[in-house]
Amino acid sequence: MTKAFLGVDVGSVSTNIVAVSPDDQILSQQYIRTNGQPLECIKNGIKLLQNQNPNIEILGVGTTGSGRQLAGVILGADIVKNEITAHATAVTHYYPEVKTIFEIGGQDSKVILLQDQMVVDFAMNTVCAAGTGSFLDHQAERLKIPIEQFGDMALSSNENIRIAGRCTVFAESDMIAKQQFGFSKADIIKGLCEALIRNYLTNLCRGKNLEPPFVFQGGVAANKGIVAALEKELKHEVIIPKYFNVMGAIGAALIAKDLMVKTNYQTKFSGFDTADLQFVPKTFNCEGCPNACEVIEVDLEGEPIARWGDKCGKWANAIAGGSTHSHHENTAQVSA
Ligand code: SF4
Repeated sequence: MTKAFLGVDVGSVSTNIVAVSPDDQILSQQYIRTNGQPLECIKNGIKLLQNQNPNIEILGVGTTGSGRQLAGVILGADIVKNEITAHATAVTHYYPEVKTIFEIGGQDSKVILLQDQMVVDFAMNTVCAAGTGSFLDHQAERLKIPIEQFGDMALSSNENIRIAGRCTVFAESDMIAKQQFGFSKADIIKGLCEALIRNYLTNLCRGKNLEPPFVFQGGVAANKGIVAALEKELKHEVIIPKYFNVMGAIGAALIAKDLMVKTNYQTKFSGFDTADLQFVPKTFNCEGCPNACEVIEVDLEGEPIARWGDKCGKWANAIAGGSTHSHHENTAQVSA
């Protein structure tokens, strides 16, 4: 039997699933495009994990990301944690000295500040596209250059042109102007990488004391042009972790391991057969008071098995025996 802790990070762009051995080796990692279907991604991911490792025994499960509750219900998670804690746990595991974590994903970005491995400040952006990977995706499409070539092209330019990239609309018109001046695509791409980093640092990191060691992760960390732009702006090198795009999932698995060691390995994992069950998520608005909460419910065979999103707990508690899944959201070490 191969023993492992399962970590699942369900985000809007990708659903990441890792299996971590009791001695912290990454046995398996999957980065699956969520495509608006988190449920199917989770089911397919655990099926694939089992097919690739027929003798795997799951000792504990942790979930994180915007779809962490859903994943927690389906998998019978032992612990459900917010992304900030999950990322901080993974990064400090590999780099205990880290003081600043930069994370840029396809549609969101974060910055996390740490002292002595504890989160002391953080910021998240899920609204402004100009500081995330989608900014580059969009411009790559406009310039008809595969996004995979962006990094190398940016590095091939020696020009310093400044693209006004405060928002995607400004960036686009400025790019067209710069092209008309005769700058090459490589110059413009380098300018775009620098604009994205400027946006990211101004939007998320303004007023924050950014101290090295710096770790840079998330899908966009694969882009060498962005790494170069970030290092130039910080005037300091950044560390890219080996598993840079599944760090949240690794953090969730490590948090689950920590809990299971303390609780004598009594996992609530619902088993690999859960992939064959028909879960149906739905939402409704409660009209019980002016809060008008949007309540999320997951049904199994027509019966609700979990609810969340209700500020007063009226819907979650109405399920027989209370919530059937673990909701150990612990944000005690996180301050806004
Ligand atoms: S769930 Fe509770 S807090 Fe939310 S609208 Fe209904 S009664 Fe109000």
